[in-house]
Amino acid sequence: MALIVQKYGGSSVADAAGIKRVAERVVATRKAGNDVVVVVSAMGDTTDELLDLAAAVTEQPPARELDMLMTAGERISMALLAMAINATGVVAQSFTGSQAGMITDGIHGRARIIDVDPHRVRTSLDKGHVAIVAGFQGMSRNDQEITTMGRGGSDTTAVALAAALDADVCEIYTDVDGVYTADPRVVPSAKKISSISSEEMLELAASGAKILHLRSVEYARRFGLPLHVRSSFSDHEGTWVIPQPGDKTTLSEGAALEQPIISGVAHDRSEGKVTVIGVPDIPGKAAEIFGIIAAAHSNIDMIVQNISTQGTGKTDISFTLPVVEGADARQALKNAQQQVGFEDILYDENIGKLSLIGAGMRSHPGVSYIFFKALSEAGVNIDLISTSEIRISVVTRADLLDTAVRAVHRAFDLDGTEEATVYGGTGR
Ligand code: ADP
Ligand code: ASP
Ligand code: MG
Repeated sequence: MALIVQKYGGSSVADAAGIKRVAERVVATRKAGNDVVVVVSAMGDTTDELLDLAAAVTEQPPARELDMLMTAGERISMALLAMAINATGVVAQSFTGSQAGMITDGIHGRARIIDVDPHRVRTSLDKGHVAIVAGFQGMSRNDQEITTMGRGGSDTTAVALAAALDADVCEIYTDVDGVYTADPRVVPSAKKISSISSEEMLELAASGAKILHLRSVEYARRFGLPLHVRSSFSDHEGTWVIPQPGDKTTLSEGAALEQPIISGVAHDRSEGKVTVIGVPDIPGKAAEIFGIIAAAHSNIDMIVQNISTQGTGKTDISFTLPVVEGADARQALKNAQQQVGFEDILYDENIGKLSLIGAGMRSHPGVSYIFFKALSEAGVNIDLISTSEIRISVVTRADLLDTAVRAVHRAFDLDGTEEATVYGGTGR
């Protein structure tokens, strides 16, 4: 008997029919003799709709109340899924994040898991029940406040539970057949990857490929847990995310770890660009600026400092950060304008980031050349550039992002022979 953790995303439980379909899948897994823990996301676009509602009530909803609101989405789907499973004669019990022992820090909206104590889930399994856990939510250790872990966080709930319960498999069910060489909604000719290292998956997730929540990949790697990303709408084998390159023990036959030069292209529209104009070009100013941003709990991504304009002793510093953190970060900087001595702040949300990822880049010269040539031939102008050992990222205008993704995907011969299937979801 195996212990299987299955996570179903919002598009898999978008309506009553979807919930019944997922229930059948869960029941089949249970009846095959496995212990099953299910993590669910909110139905369809519920989380976005709740956020829209909050925005219609006030411009600045308190972070605590926003978390209260958002956790309601997963409560609805977990209870309905438990009902649908019970209707088949298999007993299922749903648990909120706090009931399931997901203990987090106290940062609303982007809480981190600091402990998992799933004793109630374990008791439920011991009784032969299916345990259903609300994704992306927890409770803060210090003051027992309800928290959420950031958009897409249900993946992390599943991985954290799988690690804490010492599960045999953690399956992430979604609306596409696995991890592709690019988002199939943008590049229909993208190819499914049969297995990928955690290292590359981390870069893809960090670069905006929302197929997996970044922290879920970090967590799985830390605990040596393989992930199987697959569709809840088909029975196709999905993508294995392997924590240790070379560890093929969990791969099905024939699915050896691929080691291509390039694993894929990711894009991200969720960032904005802040430019701090006229910063005194003396030691310590960058530290001051980024200290202020850090105190506002903002996560900076790319940074560029221009050479100082001749004779002025002043320079400009640009950086990107999640749009949702843009307002707080700008306010914090404005409050410190006098002290830091910069002249102005500009902000631009109409940007997109494109990243090319591949562990093989380390040892293959010429990758940057092909990359920049593809962008220039597609008429895409580049605003910022950053690189790591296995990634090149550029910021472009948002309206050219899709064109840029397709051009780079084609330039590296990543196109497959058949069209990828997108089974559901609105892509929101
Ligand atoms: P869920 O609701 O199941 O969590 P998400 O919307 O969070 O689903 O993630 C699945 C979506 O991720 C897909 O529908 C696809 O549009 C998008 N996606 C982005 N990059 C990739 C990629 N490289 N491979 C597959 N899907 C991707
Ligand atoms: N429902 C949450 C979201 O839409 C969490 C998740 O789906 O993983 O972000
Ligand atoms: Mg998701």
